[in-house]
Amino acid sequence: CGIVGYIGRREVAPLLLEGLQRLEYRGYDSAGIAVTAPKTGTLKTVKAKGRVRDLEAKVPARFKGTTGIAHTRWATHGAPSDVNAHPHLDAEGKVAVVHNGIIDNAGDLRRKLEADGVEFLSETDTEVLVHLIARSTADKLEDKVRETVRLIEGTYGIAVLHADFPDRIVVARNGSPVVLGIGEKEMFVASDIAALVAHTRQIVTLDDGEMATLTADDFRTYTTEGTRTTAEPTTVEWEA
Ligand code: GLU
Repeated sequence: CGIVGYIGRREVAPLLLEGLQRLEYRGYDSAGIAVTAPKTGTLKTVKAKGRVRDLEAKVPARFKGTTGIAHTRWATHGAPSDVNAHPHLDAEGKVAVVHNGIIDNAGDLRRKLEADGVEFLSETDTEVLVHLIARSTADKLEDKVRETVRLIEGTYGIAVLHADFPDRIVVARNGSPVVLGIGEKEMFVASDIAALVAHTRQIVTLDDGEMATLTADDFRTYTTEGTRTTAEPTTVEWEA
C-alpha cells in the first residue's frame, strides 16, 4: 500500500515513521520498518499489525542507522498480522523487501522455491521476491533484482535492502507508483510524493518497467533490461 525509503546521513527510523504517517490516509492494516545497522551492515526489522503508532511503540530506542525502508500494508495475500507485515527478510536476514501490488504467479514461484528447500516465513505473495533476490547468483544487487522482477507477473512497486550492499537501495516499478525524492547528500523513495515533500520538492517519477539505484549522494535510473534512462528531477508545487 505505502512505501517510504531513505539513504543519507540522518537517523532513519524517525524519518521513515513520519513518512508512513503521511501515507496513513491511504488506509492500511499493518506497518513495518527495516534499517541497515551502521558498521556491520546487518538488517534489523520491526513490524506490527495495526497503526503506525503501534509500530513506533515497538521500535527500540537503539534502532540506529541512516539507511532504511518502511511499509504500510493493505493485505491481499495472507491475513493482516505481525509476520505478514512488510519488510520481508530471508532466513539469513540479508535481504529486505517492501512491496506494493499483487504478484499473480506467486503461487507457482513459491511451490518451486519450496520444492528447492526454501522455507517461507509468511503467507504473502511478496516473500517470493525476497528468496529470489537472496538466491540470485548475479554479482550486483541491481542484477539480482532485475533477474527477479523479470520472473514476476503482476504489479509491483518495490524497495530492496541487501546486507552485502549497504550503500544502496534498489527500487523497481511496474503498475504501482514509485517516486524518488532528490536531496542534498540524501535520497528518498516513496509510493506517493506526500511522504517526501517535507524534505524535498525535487522529484523523479519512475515509469513502468523502470528501476533505480539510490545512494546517499546520487541516483540513477534504468530499465529492467538494464538500459540507462535519463530521468531529470522536476520541482513539484505542494501546499503544506
Ligand atoms: N500483496 C502484498 C501483500 O499482501 C502487498 C499488499 C500492499 O500493496 O500493501 O502483502
